[in-house]
Amino acid sequence: MNLILMGAPGAGKGTQSEKISEKWNIPSISTGDILRAAIKAGTALGQTAKSYIDDGKLVPDEIVIGIIKEYLTSDACKNGFILDGFPRSIPQAEALEAMGVKIDAVLTIEVADETIVQRMSGRRVCACGASYHVLYKPSQKEGICDKCGAALYIRKDDAPETVTKRLETYHTQTEPLKAFYADKGLLLTVQGQEEVADTTRLVFEALSRL
Ligand code: ADP
Ligand code: ZN
Repeated sequence: MNLILMGAPGAGKGTQSEKISEKWNIPSISTGDILRAAIKAGTALGQTAKSYIDDGKLVPDEIVIGIIKEYLTSDACKNGFILDGFPRSIPQAEALEAMGVKIDAVLTIEVADETIVQRMSGRRVCACGASYHVLYKPSQKEGICDKCGAALYIRKDDAPETVTKRLETYHTQTEPLKAFYADKGLLLTVQGQEEVADTTRLVFEALSRL
């Protein structure tokens, strides 16, 4: 299964992507995680990406397209993959088509902007890629990752002003992809629920109908 996961920042793409990855045993590729890892490693890519991310903007298309190309052609993806956070613009979607990659479905998780803003204030993340929420998905030990034991932190781009900008970016640049994929008969829509497990159930239902 070759799957694209869409949704506003904070809609729960990363969390659901983990669940799908476990159940279908396919890797999840998060452009956000890859870019954050590059920032942490201090690479040239990371330095460029940081200025856009901290500003709530999209990293330039050429950069993320290059990253994705490298991953999709790797052996790990030969039995399927989940793209979490790519494509995020029409040019990125066109580039994916031009790579000749066949997509089976595009699943969008719908969450209202007001809910997103509330959620982001409680988000805590780990360098290993795990993500938590102080209310909705707390780690077992406060401030510590369940998976690797490292200290959790608040993403800089989760600051309230930046969240508002990221939502704007989502609505103007990413949301047009819904029509783009609906026209191809690929779009599946799931309403994000308050409880993670309820969203997961709807996501699994939608995917098992494929
Ligand atoms: P969220 O979905 O919560 O915004 P991500 O971790 O997916 O979080 O992305 C964080 C940031 O990384 C984005 O706001 C954007 O700046 C950058 N980014 C991630 N994926 C892409 C992409 N496909 N194209 C451009 N920028 C991206
Ligand atoms: Zn961790």
